[in-house]
Amino acid sequence: MLDLFTIFTKGGIVLWCFRNTKELFVPSVNALIRNVLMQERTGSNSYDHNHLTLQYKLDNEFELVFVVAFQKILQLAYIDKFLSDIHLEFRDKYKNDLRKQGREFNNFDFLENFTRLLKEAEAWGREQATIPRQMRTFEQSNKSKKTVASMIERKGDTSQFQNKKSVKIVETQKVSHEVEEEKNGNTEDVIQANRKKMIERLGKKSDKKKPQKSPGDQEKKKQKNARVWELNGNAKDAIELDRSKDRPEDVRSDFTNNDRMVGQLVGNVRDLEVEESSSEDENDSSEEDEVEIRKNVTSQRTSTQTSKKSRGMFAMFKGLVGSKSITMEDMQPALDKLRDHLIMKNVATDIAQKLCTSVGAKLEGKVLGTFDTIAATVKSTLNDSLVQILSPKRRVDILRDCLEAKKNQRPYVMTFCGVNGVGKSTNLAKICFWLIENNLNVLIAACDTFRAGAVEQLRTHTRHLNALHPREKHGGREMVQLYEKGYGKDAAGIAMEAIRFAKEACIDIVLVDTAGRMQDNEPLMRALAKLIKVNEPDLVLFVGEALVGNEAVDQLVKFNQALADYSAMENPHVIDGIVLTKFDTIDDKVGAAISMTYITGQPIVFVGTGQTYTDLKALNSKAVVQALMK
Ligand code: GDP
Repeated sequence: MLDLFTIFTKGGIVLWCFRNTKELFVPSVNALIRNVLMQERTGSNSYDHNHLTLQYKLDNEFELVFVVAFQKILQLAYIDKFLSDIHLEFRDKYKNDLRKQGREFNNFDFLENFTRLLKEAEAWGREQATIPRQMRTFEQSNKSKKTVASMIERKGDTSQFQNKKSVKIVETQKVSHEVEEEKNGNTEDVIQANRKKMIERLGKKSDKKKPQKSPGDQEKKKQKNARVWELNGNAKDAIELDRSKDRPEDVRSDFTNNDRMVGQLVGNVRDLEVEESSSEDENDSSEEDEVEIRKNVTSQRTSTQTSKKSRGMFAMFKGLVGSKSITMEDMQPALDKLRDHLIMKNVATDIAQKLCTSVGAKLEGKVLGTFDTIAATVKSTLNDSLVQILSPKRRVDILRDCLEAKKNQRPYVMTFCGVNGVGKSTNLAKICFWLIENNLNVLIAACDTFRAGAVEQLRTHTRHLNALHPREKHGGREMVQLYEKGYGKDAAGIAMEAIRFAKEACIDIVLVDTAGRMQDNEPLMRALAKLIKVNEPDLVLFVGEALVGNEAVDQLVKFNQALADYSAMENPHVIDGIVLTKFDTIDDKVGAAISMTYITGQPIVFVGTGQTYTDLKALNSKAVVQALMK
């Protein structure tokens, strides 16, 4: 049973509406518009809000949206059919009104059509429910589309793997396949070679006569020899690497070469840079694609073939011709290629799929006037969708918020969480450097009380940062301090003490470093939820590597879910933003950025681009999209 059916224009004019109850649907429809239609998340045609499910259909030719709302607990199998029937009927009935220039909409008399179509769809749904489910025939299944040749696995032939679900799976399969082959083919040889080696080794051992050891020698062996650093040539490295004692007075001299870092991060964090060459390339290839499309059109008209191979991803859209509305079938091959391209760039598989479906839904039914604008339209649709996804729903302005907190005489608290080794401590130190550059003093709370060396790592950073910004330059005040209580203590308690200490000592910012934990480790996730619940930080940042695709999404989703589940609060404090690290190591495989923001809708606040304090950037969505489309 439907609660609501409405038709409105993308411009926001409601054309027709049917309501079955007195319930107020405005918040749910607004949420659909804000969170799905405007955010380019039309990949699936349904959206849940509170206790309602909203299903929708877009008409891109007349710029209309058809929405049905019903109770979430219901499973109505006929909604898809009903939406497409009513869509077609409404278009047919009112196409002249809808085509009018400067459309002025009168009352649409549609109740009779609506009631009839709904009854028909419900009857269809009941009928379907009585039909026993039948197995697909061979022709209907995907297997029928495979040729026998494509199913034969050959050594060194990787093409057979190309249609598998994820690139990762492909790689593992390939590796295991090769290992298998190696095992079968060479086992005998390997056994022989190993035997030979073992015999040689045994022979050598028996030849060697063990010298008699004096008790004094044994004593000597127990002691570990001190490492001797070669001072000729590598003197500076040796001093840098010697961490055997705290040498606050020496540290400054370590950083004499790095003084040029100072002053580089004043003000807001700089955007990721766009490579000039790549943008030129893209223009080139897009122009080339346009030319290609024109050529294609000419060749269709004159029935002569031009077989120039075009570069650039947009060449795949050359088959789409103008002056007719684009159908899903027209786009499907191109969308499939686009999905594979996104997966290759490390976008998580299901997100790549949703993204392509969303692009398809946005373009389906669009009528493109001239031939030359097709590539441009497709390209701008893709670009818009991706830029929109990467653009934060809300702006995180840390400097402004810090000053606000300072005015209220309390420290601004940021918590860093994530799995092990992703760069939490390193990027915390970079952010700390940026804050000091902006004349804010910082307390680092060492709440990673698990990993050996975690506290020392932060102590070293504290020392280096103070060396770069010595107290003499800041009115005798130490810019960074470390709050640590060693290992094995309760992290939430240490964070609380640190925040209290910062308040008393008028420190502007507290950066809470937490222990790395796997997203599936329930006790540790509970501990993190507790730390956040009791300390109420202003900002919870999830630190994730740009190197991973699907894995990053899994981590992020589970961290978010755990914070929500284990906090036992009605409005739990979940992840507010993302720090995307190791961006310098991924070349143009920038997909993790898309996956992470798509899944949470939270902004990427910082991007780590290297291992020095200045390697901190803000996300430039245009640059990322450009790298993605290359
Ligand atoms: P944690 O266990 O999450 O605290 O990770 P660490 O901060 O100890 O960092 C792990 C490794 O990643 C270190 O070797 C860092 O130098 C390195 N790392 C961190 N951020 C970046 C980055 O943005 N780029 C590169 N190339 N390496 C990074």
